[in-house]
Amino acid sequence: MDANVKRRLIEAVAATVIGHADELTRLDQAIGDGDHGLNMKRGFEAVAAEIGPLSEKPLPEALKAIGTHLVMKVGGASGPLYGTLFLALGKSLPDRPGVADAAAALGDAVGAVKARGKSEGGQKTMLDVLIPVQAALEAAIVSPAEVKRVAQEAADATVPMKAARGRASFLGERSIGHMDPGARSSALMIAAVCDVLGG
Ligand code: ADP
Ligand code: MG
Repeated sequence: MDANVKRRLIEAVAATVIGHADELTRLDQAIGDGDHGLNMKRGFEAVAAEIGPLSEKPLPEALKAIGTHLVMKVGGASGPLYGTLFLALGKSLPDRPGVADAAAALGDAVGAVKARGKSEGGQKTMLDVLIPVQAALEAAIVSPAEVKRVAQEAADATVPMKAARGRASFLGERSIGHMDPGARSSALMIAAVCDVLGG
């Protein structure tokens, strides 16, 4: 993949996470401990600081390096989970992926997150965005605008869910009525990728 495209993708994902840190913090204050915004900001600031060398790496190596940064810097539950996601994407994606490659790699990455988090869909987590986006790609929904909408609607759909994994699960019924912070951060990252690829 062209280094310029990789640079724009990494820049866009880092910028949206950093720019929405306050919102992610507020969402995590409602049903968690309020650190998701800062956790993610710290991780993506580390990624942004390495943007030159990361963009020069082949896509699989760049994704694995991003995963390693996230594991080391983000912390909380989401650091190892997003680290796992990016590492698995790096293992599965070719340097110039098509939609079928993206569907297969995201399928592998979702499987890796489920294994790491001992979690599945419907538990009010980041998986409730990642799974429908993977399904959309699998169903050959290729328009970036469409994929972005799937991600945003999936994040919205976590509002009425009752959390069954992570800190929010400690709240039981009181977790209902708030968007899951990890679902929101996943949707933001997917939207940023779609915006770059959609031109
Ligand atoms: P912590 O919960 O340790 O404070 P963060 O606030 O950074 O970590 O991340 C919380 C997010 O992580 C949740 O909103 C949820 O989306 C995700 N999450 C937590 N536990 C799991 C799990 N077991 N499987 C999948 N996602 C999870
Ligand atoms: Mg938290």
